[in-house]
Amino acid sequence: MVETMRAQRFYADTKEIAVEDVPIPELGQGEVLVKVAFCGICHSDLSLINGTFPSQRAVVTQGHEASGTVAALGPGVTGWAEGDRVVVAAGRPCLECVNCRRGDVSNCLQIRLMAFAYDGAWAEYTVAQAFGLTRIPDNVSLEQAAILADAVSTPFGAVVRTGKVGIGESVGVWGVGGLGTHVVQLARLVGAAPIIAVDVKPAVLDRALAVGADFAFDARDDALHDKIRDATGGRQLDVAFDAVGLKSTFEQALGNLTVGGRLVGIGMSADAPSIGSTAMFNLFKWQALGHLGYQNADIGTLAALVSMGRLDLSRSISDIVPLEDVARGIEKLDKADGDPIRILVQP
Ligand SMILES: [Zn+2]
Ligand SMILES: [Zn+2]
Repeated sequence: MVETMRAQRFYADTKEIAVEDVPIPELGQGEVLVKVAFCGICHSDLSLINGTFPSQRAVVTQGHEASGTVAALGPGVTGWAEGDRVVVAAGRPCLECVNCRRGDVSNCLQIRLMAFAYDGAWAEYTVAQAFGLTRIPDNVSLEQAAILADAVSTPFGAVVRTGKVGIGESVGVWGVGGLGTHVVQLARLVGAAPIIAVDVKPAVLDRALAVGADFAFDARDDALHDKIRDATGGRQLDVAFDAVGLKSTFEQALGNLTVGGRLVGIGMSADAPSIGSTAMFNLFKWQALGHLGYQNADIGTLAALVSMGRLDLSRSISDIVPLEDVARGIEKLDKADGDPIRILVQP
């Protein structure tokens, strides 16, 4: 008898989701079975459901921001024990492409993304490579640990690696939801000043001020450019983060850069923004930088920062839904009902 578990399943042809009984997966070489504690609902999960992202499999279990405990070890796994508290990496390097072969696994050319290329963690159990597990300190809750796997680590990668935000640099953040909130917090942690949040919802702007923004402005304000100029002593922004990914947010963020400023694109949509004329783009020496993801080691760094009280994620969990109600959680995020930072699924 094959043992079964409850798991959400997304069907590519009908775009329908269901919670079903599926076999508990068998473990291969180097793999670990993780009993899922919590798994976040991310906008990229919505993008698979609404067709913005192409389906890679006919049916897949979604969810790629998971925390849990080690339930079983596959062949060849050492250094882990049943019950260890872990976060699961949201992608698997191929270990075969030219970048992987030179040790640059975080720039794998054929990275397989969890919940797209293989089954994710809106399920009682998920399979992880031992290679990609991060141990979570006892004083970090598994709720907060779950969102380290994307909602906090992707902003970390954007602030630290792609944006290379330095102490005293002026930063703007367009869209202060699940990603943008953490961009604000991490920009604060690395010493950016001032930090300017831009959104369209008053409640979201107030929240951005509460987590560390120095100013919060409405994106629709005709005087936005002047307000950012005044807030930055006439300089405009060294780094602008577009956590929304619309044509309007991308272009507005770009247009508020100082000479030599960097735009970091994090949010994704099907929109195709313009950088304006090459003459102006070059004259202002602007940089427009695409960003995706993080390095696996970043999860451990963030877990340590939370553990040591340097990074407060206590506001970041907006709601928790049981696995059977995952559709309700998805709808709530889709409609921005309650302006969630992160909604978690609890199997
Ligand atoms: Zn995600
Ligand atoms: Zn590779």
